[in-house]
Amino acid sequence: MNNTRRNFLKTFVATSVALPLIAKANILAKPEKKLGIALIGLGSYATNNLAPAFANTQFCRLAGIVTGTPTKAEIWKKKYNIPEKNIYNYQNFDEIAKNPDIDAVYVVLPNGLHHEFVLRAAKAGKHVFCEKPMAISVKQCEEMIAACKAAKVTLSIGYRLHYEPFNNEVVRLAKDKDFGKVTFVEASFGFPLRDKKAWRMIPKLSGGGPMLDVGIYALNAARYATGEEPISVTAQAIKTQPDIYVDGIEETMFWQMKFPSGVISNHTTTYNSYVQRLYVGYENGNLEMSPAFDYGPLMGKTSKGEMKFPIVHHQTLMLDGISSDILNNRPMRTPGEEGLKDMKIITAIFEAAKTGKEVKLG
Ligand code: NAD
Repeated sequence: MNNTRRNFLKTFVATSVALPLIAKANILAKPEKKLGIALIGLGSYATNNLAPAFANTQFCRLAGIVTGTPTKAEIWKKKYNIPEKNIYNYQNFDEIAKNPDIDAVYVVLPNGLHHEFVLRAAKAGKHVFCEKPMAISVKQCEEMIAACKAAKVTLSIGYRLHYEPFNNEVVRLAKDKDFGKVTFVEASFGFPLRDKKAWRMIPKLSGGGPMLDVGIYALNAARYATGEEPISVTAQAIKTQPDIYVDGIEETMFWQMKFPSGVISNHTTTYNSYVQRLYVGYENGNLEMSPAFDYGPLMGKTSKGEMKFPIVHHQTLMLDGISSDILNNRPMRTPGEEGLKDMKIITAIFEAAKTGKEVKLG
């Protein structure tokens, strides 16, 4: 991960007071045993955000790692007390099937590799956590869902904001209608990325530019802010620096969505600038959050005043939320189907940008 992004999406350490409040709300039973999770791909997100999150999880533990870099394996082994038998590389990963210490694997690799490793994890009989975007095509997402179903393991996508209180308030307002019906949504997420060598700039590994990387948060937010699924999209891709952003990597994407109730939404995602906000208009009020989507602390206000919610560690809550659902045999809150829905809409957005036409969904 480049430094700009690292600085932008800065890690936030949860306060010890706030966490149990939220954890209690999401979780029913205390586990007899913590879910043992192996992280696959020890890059920036796994190193700076997921691994430290396990320090406060009640329902899961960091049990193993899968890495292609032996020096990283040595560092993680010492730092997190990981037994040698729970350390794998990409070649011998499938042997994880025989390891009872590992209940689940968490795929934190470049987007283009999610499909292969989710399929291999399912085949090994392990529950699967997979980072967003779920994959780089609708077909891949469908195959991943089918593979996990066939193997009778759960599949969850790492949509951390679904486990986070500010964004949960956005969901609640759509349901409880404190300010009446939703009338309009504006949601945008972008950051500067100009490193041509980064995997995010290589279509085979990324599946696209900022749309799949961070635009997906803005898209997902419009869906949970309205509680509806879009029926059509229009989009405009603008490229000012084709020497940096090659074919298959959009530089800036603007898009609009229409929803069944008549709500419309407007969005920007870009690798050209920082932008990160969510605006929801209601019949009798509004909500504005900025920052809305990074690791926090998130901030916002509604027509009633400042939004005051616990400041939490997103990854700790997400890991515990998914793990407690698995341990308690409850439906996943962010299943593969949620990732597939976003991927179908993103595919329509790319098509709309290419053809200049409105693309219908569903
Ligand atoms: P990164 O580049 O920092 O890490 C990628 C890891 O994959 C590295 O350890 C690298 O060695 C490994 N790798 C294995 N095969 C590779 C290959 N062929 N090419 C490149 N790297 C290879 O990336 P990251 O920022 O940690 O992102 C990883 C995943 O996590 C992505 O899917 C990304 O969208 C997601 N992510 C999610 C969040 C979030 O807030 N949910 C934040 C950042 C990243």
